[in-house]
Amino acid sequence: MNSGRRLLIRGGRVIDPASGRDAVADVLVVDGAVAAVGPDAAGAGADCEVIEAAGLWVFPGLIDLHVHLREPGYEYKETVLTGCRAAAAGGFTAVACMPNTDPPNDSAAVTRAIMRKAEEAALVRVYPIGCITAGQQGQRMAEFGDLVSAGCRAVSDDGHPVMNAGVMRRALEYSRYFDIPVISHCEDLHLAGGGVAHEGAVATRLGLKPIPAAAEEAMVAREVVLARQTGARVHIAHVSTRGSVSLLAAAKAEGLPVTAEATPHHLTLTDEAISGFDTATKVNPPLRSAEDRDALRLALAEGIIDAVATDHAPHGLADKDLEFDAAANGIVGLETALSLVLRLVAEGSCSLHRAIDALTWRPARILGVPGGRLAPGDPADIALIDPEEAWTVDPDAFFSKGRNSPFRGWRLTGRVRATIVAGRIVFRDGAIVDEGRR
Ligand SMILES: [Zn+2]
Repeated sequence: MNSGRRLLIRGGRVIDPASGRDAVADVLVVDGAVAAVGPDAAGAGADCEVIEAAGLWVFPGLIDLHVHLREPGYEYKETVLTGCRAAAAGGFTAVACMPNTDPPNDSAAVTRAIMRKAEEAALVRVYPIGCITAGQQGQRMAEFGDLVSAGCRAVSDDGHPVMNAGVMRRALEYSRYFDIPVISHCEDLHLAGGGVAHEGAVATRLGLKPIPAAAEEAMVAREVVLARQTGARVHIAHVSTRGSVSLLAAAKAEGLPVTAEATPHHLTLTDEAISGFDTATKVNPPLRSAEDRDALRLALAEGIIDAVATDHAPHGLADKDLEFDAAANGIVGLETALSLVLRLVAEGSCSLHRAIDALTWRPARILGVPGGRLAPGDPADIALIDPEEAWTVDPDAFFSKGRNSPFRGWRLTGRVRATIVAGRIVFRDGAIVDEGRR
């Protein structure tokens, strides 16, 4: 960042739940940080770059707790660079990336390699998530101290649930020394039984092997019990069932350090979406019933679900162009998340402020990272949104390498016009601005 570099975002509607602000205001950025927010931010000066934001919404940059950048090992699905481009295009200024790479991120060397790639991309902030267990094998704990020293902000065996409760208990106890959240992919593999669709009428009709809601709920219950016992911070990934919501509500009422996220696809779709065997709808946890989806929406509105996270999971065509049973699980999410959340807001499921809070301040607090708010001194990580612009989802036009979106052809409203990281415009009017790339 050049010394003294100034940027003025003029006349937008600044919506910043963490500051309690929702008003037309100017945002003045100096040296990569928010310098002032107000009706007429003074001190812009003549050499100041100006973005006219009249008619636009100005949010803190979105923060995604849960993405798969696929690098190292699966560069044909996504790379740190393409994932960062997708994030910037989606209004995200920071993403936390899951460790189920090849090799898995269970060592400082892998963490540093990911961070080096992110520095080279020079687009959005990348926070690696380390493994809970070595190789995600569920047996021996990874060295959390090394991972945190190298830059990890959380640990998770996402995609490979820690089936051994004793190992999970020790991981939670150990995590307290580093004050990091343990992110749990809640799936009892014995109950899931190798299923591919939500256990219900749709799976029965289609002849698909079912995954009961209990496969998730049994593990959410276990994590709640272990959070109570250890006092460690547990974050539940991609909550998908009504029963999980009930367990979370009880845990929160008790004051336990348990947080949770839900994905835009689980908040939007039901298992009816799989009826045409479109493998873009195959995801784990599976798309659930309308009752489950509606419970998630209510939980988001009430804050029982703290954050919206995409579980952005790009795959190659060869991973998905298969029979439903054999296709890989996952949905690309970074470039549709905001518009899908705004759709929930437009339908009255959730207030705009809660929705933005769930995409900004809450994930920042869960990860313990800067951003998610636009107060003086905060990093100038900002998203500019045109709330009126309608657009049609075309995965072939994604910046992500992944094309596996069940929202192909959907007409959505609300689009990212610009994404700003540390005061630098990294995405604007449909294009990546990668002047900062090394
Ligand atoms: Zn997962």
